[in-house]
Amino acid sequence: MKIPDYADRLKGLPFYLYPTIEVATEEAAKRGCDIIDLSTGDPQFATPHHIVQALQRACEDPSTHHYGNLRGYSPFRKAIGQWYQRRFGVSADSDREVITFIGSKEGISFLPLAFINPGDIALIPDPGYPTYRYAAAFANARLETFPIRPEKDYEPDFNEIPESIARKAKIIFLNYPNNPTAATVDRDFFKKAVQFAEKYNIVIAHDAAYSEVTFDGYRSPSLLEVEGAKEVGVEFHTLSKTFCMTGWRVGFAVGNANIIQALLEVKRVTASGHFAAIERAGCEALGRDPQELATNNNQLRVRRDFVVGELRKLGIDIKPPRGSYYVWFPIPKERDSLSFVKKVILETGVVTFPGIGYGKNGEGYIRIAVVEELPKIQEAFKRLEPYLRT
Ligand SMILES: *Cc1c(COP(=O)(O)O)cnc(C)c1O
Repeated sequence: MKIPDYADRLKGLPFYLYPTIEVATEEAAKRGCDIIDLSTGDPQFATPHHIVQALQRACEDPSTHHYGNLRGYSPFRKAIGQWYQRRFGVSADSDREVITFIGSKEGISFLPLAFINPGDIALIPDPGYPTYRYAAAFANARLETFPIRPEKDYEPDFNEIPESIARKAKIIFLNYPNNPTAATVDRDFFKKAVQFAEKYNIVIAHDAAYSEVTFDGYRSPSLLEVEGAKEVGVEFHTLSKTFCMTGWRVGFAVGNANIIQALLEVKRVTASGHFAAIERAGCEALGRDPQELATNNNQLRVRRDFVVGELRKLGIDIKPPRGSYYVWFPIPKERDSLSFVKKVILETGVVTFPGIGYGKNGEGYIRIAVVEELPKIQEAFKRLEPYLRT
């Protein structure tokens, strides 16, 4: 027998660049290059020990060994509600306004399945985290991008979205602190977003993956702090970045009860509840603010300062980002970010990520993730310098 062709939804996906970068990296390694990988947002920090211990204890309890609660382990949902209250001053009913996921990527992917009919529009930031595009494309959404630009500190101007497009839109994705640009916003920005969403009946999906990865005293607001946000919005969170738990796959969403219910309906037919032991460890994570987080953020800030300083010496002047793992900057001389990144990988072993991978407005830029220890980042810059000199 012959295996049928892949479905159009798989074949027609917007261009995915990670495999290309991986191939170049393998090729460089084969040539004997020492690889320094600054391409992926996954720092080598360990999960705080008390969270690991909580998982060990929870695993020993046989009551965790069964199908998990579909909406999420109830004490974990309560812990999420309490964390929202403590952290953002936002109250959330843990039975109606909270749901957990196997990573926030799962939840983000469910949202278009719940709200998009073929031809409905999903509004996607350009540049933006690629999952929004893929999630929307899988649900047969019509993708319409909106630009976020350096001149406006990567805040979208909602007035630029044409009325005819806004009227057909069902979902808008926002993400601050932003991946890949590292931009941050203040609460007033979310007020504008809520006004826009109310006017056109659009669901706001705010991805707050980096809300706790911030520097210089900056406090990242929640969408839900804004009046009216809970009428139109849902906020995605994850323990991945906040507690260095990328491998554990724990994410959640908080927001409008009907949106949460819609996510639950998709989850009901495509997935199941998470392993309760992991969500019990999640209670431990959210239950107190571990010292490790401040220490990690401090290390990230030192690395960021180094990178921003080196770029300035090279004549690339950018504002030090107030959040996320990333430094995002224009590459000199060349526009083609993919060719630039591949060349640098093959010639130096330093792996960064090309801006074009985040959308066409990302072209001409690259993203560096400060995920390695400072000495490695210093070494990477020694190698990068000739390529970045203007
Ligand atoms: C890392 C990341 C996520 C995914 O988090 P998981 O919970 O590990 O799936 C979501 N959004 C953005 C912007 C990210 O960078």
